Amino acid sequence: MMPSQLFQEAPYRGRRAVLATMHGKEQAIGPPMRRLLGLELVGAPELDTDRFGTFAGDVPRNGSMLEVAVRKAREGMRLSQARLGLASEGTYGPHPDIPFMTVGREIIVLVDDDAGLTVQEHLITHDVTCTLRFVEPGSDWMSFLDEIGFPAQGVLVRSHQASRNAYLRKDLRDAAEVAAAVAQAARLSQDGRARIETDMRAHRNPSRMAVLATLAEKLAHRIAAPCPACRAPGFGVIETHKGLPCSECGTPTASIRLHVHGCLLCEFRDERGRPDGRLTEEPYFCSWCNP
Ligand SMILES: [Zn+2]
Ligand SMILES: [Zn+2]
Repeated sequence: MMPSQLFQEAPYRGRRAVLATMHGKEQAIGPPMRRLLGLELVGAPELDTDRFGTFAGDVPRNGSMLEVAVRKAREGMRLSQARLGLASEGTYGPHPDIPFMTVGREIIVLVDDDAGLTVQEHLITHDVTCTLRFVEPGSDWMSFLDEIGFPAQGVLVRSHQASRNAYLRKDLRDAAEVAAAVAQAARLSQDGRARIETDMRAHRNPSRMAVLATLAEKLAHRIAAPCPACRAPGFGVIETHKGLPCSECGTPTASIRLHVHGCLLCEFRDERGRPDGRLTEEPYFCSWCNP
């Protein structure tokens, strides 16, 4: 059978996929999947995504973000005996160049065992609340909690100077529980200080949940894009090429020149210019004009 006969229009309409999450991500990922694809998400019973790694660091992550996301999706599919699975994975840390700036990377995948393909999308964000404060039990840490939007935005409390996971409290519900955790963490710290940090799990971090909704929308659009040759879902950018020429001298710069759109199943490729239509780069970014 030719591939073109395998894929009809809207191949996911009326189907169900397992979303591998313990952290309420269906509220962000479910709506765009339903609206743009007609795909319904269901949870996986007995799923423990924490064993693939946690933000708190008590379970280290093994492998790349893409590998972990696919592994989580597959675990959800295995538990539910499903052929379609979704999962996402995020990482947050200090910006490499800008002090006090946090940068986050989120990736999301749809694994389709019937079609034999995995569609992925990712995004980089600076909009997620991700910060920490070192405090003493008597100091004014309440203003920090107000600043980050506690309790909708959750916090973790641990000792400042102790072996990293000697004391770690999550799921603190109110200021009194935070106070008790701060006192205990400070007592166990060599310098008598506790560390309060933002919880990065989606259900305890509203700004991250919003970013996941944006990413899910991006993935749904990609899944909805069929390959012009074989109609397989997930047609989109598979490579970017740098070398946008300088407007003054034509020297290739480090800016993106073109995107290669490709199919996940067949060999069809389509080179396209930048989405913003620009054909040249400012001399400011040229290594010849502005060395
Ligand atoms: Zn130039
Ligand atoms: Zn194709």
